[in-house]
Amino acid sequence: MIFLFCFLLILSCKNNNKQELPPAQKSDKFVDNKKEKIKNILYNDSLFVNYDSSIWIDIQDLEPDIDLDIRYASTNNFVNEKMYECGKCFLRPEIAKALQKVQEDLREMGYGGLKIFDCYRPRPYQQALWDKVPDANYVSPPEKGSMHNRGAAVDLTIIDQYGMELDMGTDFDFFGVEAHHTYREFNDAILNNRKLLKDVMLKRGFKSIKTEWWHYSYYKAYEISDWIWECE
Ligand SMILES: [Zn+2]
Repeated sequence: MIFLFCFLLILSCKNNNKQELPPAQKSDKFVDNKKEKIKNILYNDSLFVNYDSSIWIDIQDLEPDIDLDIRYASTNNFVNEKMYECGKCFLRPEIAKALQKVQEDLREMGYGGLKIFDCYRPRPYQQALWDKVPDANYVSPPEKGSMHNRGAAVDLTIIDQYGMELDMGTDFDFFGVEAHHTYREFNDAILNNRKLLKDVMLKRGFKSIKTEWWHYSYYKAYEISDWIWECE
């Protein structure tokens, strides 16, 4: 009985020791890992990532401060259904690096930065969307593919220093004239917010389209892709 008591005592001391790791040490290690991971991505070494970083970059591996709200990984989208298994923002490396510059520009201006709604959209997901809404006014036909299917487009907005989205007049994926860049019937604050987004994106090589204030693409000849990212 005494033996059993001593054994339990030793065991409980061991467990207590385990729990007393200084938190600072843990967070330093986390930061080091993150730096190491980013360094490896920049030098095209896939050792720490589970994708080919010469073809794709997960924007949060490059710039962890960028906020994600990948709508097709939730039911908060125009088909009201979860389309992606999990929400990630993959882009072609050149485009991810341009977006990182936009994030840095916004941070320097005092904003929280970017909030992203959609990035690369694998063709199988495009097909699933098309099967639900086979209307080219709303969804690109999968055989033609969109800039999203090429990893060359991003849907996004700006957040302030408190993490709140700037008022852009409509939600993401609002299909109507109010989402057009040419629609001017908003107050100055909204028009200025849209102009700010356009200015910072165009400065880093992105192009806008007429009908969606949130959509920006990078016109280079990338192939449509079927690759789907892994979900942990
Ligand atoms: Zn888009």
